[in-house]
Amino acid sequence: MGDIGSTISLSFLGGAGVVTGSKFLVEHGDHRLLVDCGLYQGEREWRRRNWAPFPVPPDSIDDVVLTHCHLDHCGYVPALVRDGFAGPVWTSAGTAALSAIVLRDSGHLQERDAEMAREGRYSRHDPPLPLYTVADADRAIGRFRSVDFGVDTPVTDRAGFGLTRAGHVLGSASIRLRVDDASVLFSGDLGRVGHPLLRPRAAPPAARTVVIESTYGDRDHPDPGAHPHAALADAIRRTIARGGSVLIPAFAIDRTELVLHALSALWRAGEIPAVPVYVDSPMALAALDVYRETVMRAEFLPDVEPTMFDLPMLHTARSAEESMALNAPRTPCVIISSSGMASGGRVVHHLPHLLPDRRHTVALTGYQARGTRGRALLDGEREVKVMGRYVPVRAEIVNDEEFSVHADAGELLGWLRELPEPPETVYVVHGEPGASQALAARIREELEWCVVVPSVGERVLVG
Ligand SMILES: [Zn+2]
Ligand SMILES: [Zn+2]
Repeated sequence: MGDIGSTISLSFLGGAGVVTGSKFLVEHGDHRLLVDCGLYQGEREWRRRNWAPFPVPPDSIDDVVLTHCHLDHCGYVPALVRDGFAGPVWTSAGTAALSAIVLRDSGHLQERDAEMAREGRYSRHDPPLPLYTVADADRAIGRFRSVDFGVDTPVTDRAGFGLTRAGHVLGSASIRLRVDDASVLFSGDLGRVGHPLLRPRAAPPAARTVVIESTYGDRDHPDPGAHPHAALADAIRRTIARGGSVLIPAFAIDRTELVLHALSALWRAGEIPAVPVYVDSPMALAALDVYRETVMRAEFLPDVEPTMFDLPMLHTARSAEESMALNAPRTPCVIISSSGMASGGRVVHHLPHLLPDRRHTVALTGYQARGTRGRALLDGEREVKVMGRYVPVRAEIVNDEEFSVHADAGELLGWLRELPEPPETVYVVHGEPGASQALAARIREELEWCVVVPSVGERVLVG
């Protein structure tokens, strides 16, 4: 570390002490680079922070680099651009394509939620305003620049960054930023060792400072054994037999593809009957098109074919009318609808119709953040609030943890062990406090590295 002009700092503006809202600011000289620019989701006390002024003036930020397309990593970009950020948003081609879908949808949901709050008068804002609009999202999408994996992209004469595959969702990356002889590696969200569709994550490059996620820092995923998704197959058979339908809240991006892939395999193995399967999410259908694009083939395992999402009775509900018809399914069916934590999207409209009826099942398929409806259902709440009203929960609730695309504690440690040399410091982020502390403790004990769980707003020197 030299004079003050050569100071390189890292600030944890979001995604510290919580899973969502990832934002990490790296400053050297008068250059500011933001790694990830995510929305807070889940608990209200965190979501309120989406409305707070950005900690530094957005027009003072020169570059944004994104790890992947999930809202908690890219969802704040439209607000940043509207409030003055005028630089490039660097990311992989896959993330650029999927983020465009995610951000337009987010702008649309923000506008619609504000509209509904205005009609129902259940907002704290008067009049209720969207956090940003579809037009803001479109302006943000115009700033995206895609870069290839493994290529160094200079941003100043002292600094540059490179992307490494993270195997989490299509296009997902870890980001290694270099400034002079300092380097910071951001894991982004790391995938499991064996993603059923995507090429696996790459070994991490060496870095002096490492920032690692800890979504599942305190647990290991169950071993699926010889029969993948057996519990889901059982639930589907049971539900259909009693004349009910199965609602699967699924993240529109990647999770819907994984669910279709699993249902297709279960059907081919004769483990579930050939009932109608509806994909009720315009965003999921748009993402499915990206997954089927030939330019994305390089993202997939060599034996993955676009036809593997096909089911005998696959239907798509693109219009609102088609979606509405699914509220009262006349014959048993499977409905895949977003969002995955039942906190927004069309799935919210299905819940008041399906939850009060014992015949139906809601099958959760992934991480459920605190404060979301999905978490309430997972925790066995008997009444949940939907659009301002409480609804009794009589439907069966099941949870299929095998869909997780997040590395578990053992896999996170495995990624760290693959670093070519021990880093100077590891910062543990993107987790609920218990999960981050648990992972930090294992890194301290098993690897004997200097490891810290930073607090939100904390600033540290990295060079
Ligand atoms: Zn993610
Ligand atoms: Zn995330």
